[in-house]
Amino acid sequence: MAKPKVYISKQIPAQVLSYLEEYCECKMWDGSGGASRQGLLAELQDVEGLLTTGGPIDAELLQHAPKLRAVSSISVGYNHFDLDAMRTRGVLGMHTPYVLDDTVADLVLALMLASARRVPELDAFVKEGKWQRGRGLKEEDFFGMDVHHATIGILGMGRIGEAIAKRAVHGFDMELLYYNRTRKPEAEERFGAQYVTTEELLRRSDFVVLMTPLTAETKMYFRKEHFELMKPTAFFINASRGQTVDEAALIKALRSGRIRGAGLDVFDPEPPQPDNPLLSMPNVVTLPHIGSATEKTRFDMAMLAARNLVAALTGGRPPHVVKELADLVESR
Ligand code: NAP
Repeated sequence: MAKPKVYISKQIPAQVLSYLEEYCECKMWDGSGGASRQGLLAELQDVEGLLTTGGPIDAELLQHAPKLRAVSSISVGYNHFDLDAMRTRGVLGMHTPYVLDDTVADLVLALMLASARRVPELDAFVKEGKWQRGRGLKEEDFFGMDVHHATIGILGMGRIGEAIAKRAVHGFDMELLYYNRTRKPEAEERFGAQYVTTEELLRRSDFVVLMTPLTAETKMYFRKEHFELMKPTAFFINASRGQTVDEAALIKALRSGRIRGAGLDVFDPEPPQPDNPLLSMPNVVTLPHIGSATEKTRFDMAMLAARNLVAALTGGRPPHVVKELADLVESR
């Protein structure tokens, strides 16, 4: 039997490609970064499976891919899937949960520590030769805020939220508040987490961590009124998606001293415009969307995405179909 045709829209490790080639006839984008939209659309005519990272999987793309049966994303977030369009065409969508939880949680702690202890700001201070005797520097000039024993409030207590909770409670002795659409009794038991309203979480937390997925419900989830409830000494940490936050409201809250600082791995849009005020604020730590970006974790994600795709195309049971399309597996 002929192998199903697969297009891979960004370069993946050789070992993952060899695995895919055992089961599929593969063509991979050979440039750096990922395939352009036009480049991608031009490749899809005969393709049954697509391995991708981002870029909308929408009605236009599906029109260019009449034989497409499965899309496997090398990411846990799948806000680039147009779920209605995929459902209408019966195309399975898959993602890579679990394998990146610890790596993203490490980065969230790094954002908390870096913003509270002013690591990038003071690193620049030393490297720019400003740390000199006789300049009238006071020790208070270098003071930051403690992370240990502070209160963390997690909005979106899912897989990654729980990995953050574990570090915060067991590593940093933090008090843990959370709000989640569904209450998580097991997280309450494991971490002593207190389930509170969003309002209470914002009023009491020293670190507010946003970790919800981007969905129709969470677009612009965090707005002016939320920043207004935060403590003026608190830090806002976002590693979910840029569009979950009203970035203009965040900028205002920082400019006016309404909150103390922020640690951001995500922006709207990405990359941010060079004149985005967030990029010139010393109390804001900015990273280029690197939550899962370690060599091992990106390898594990690519391999899991490849396994998902092979299972979907060869009649197996793909382990990680996104929950909104899970019923399509039964009806194949
Ligand atoms: P997850 O396990 O699905 O957790 C998300 C949690 O958010 C779930 O517990 C969910 O509640 C909750 N939630 C959803 N909508 C909500 C709402 N309207 N109000 C309150 N809570 C809500 O996902 P995950 O694996 O932890 O990943 C979370 C997100 O992190 C991803 O979707 C992605 O956008 C982002 N991410 C970013 C990076 C990065 O590089 N910065 C890396 C990986 C992931 P329910 O239990 O009710 O569904």
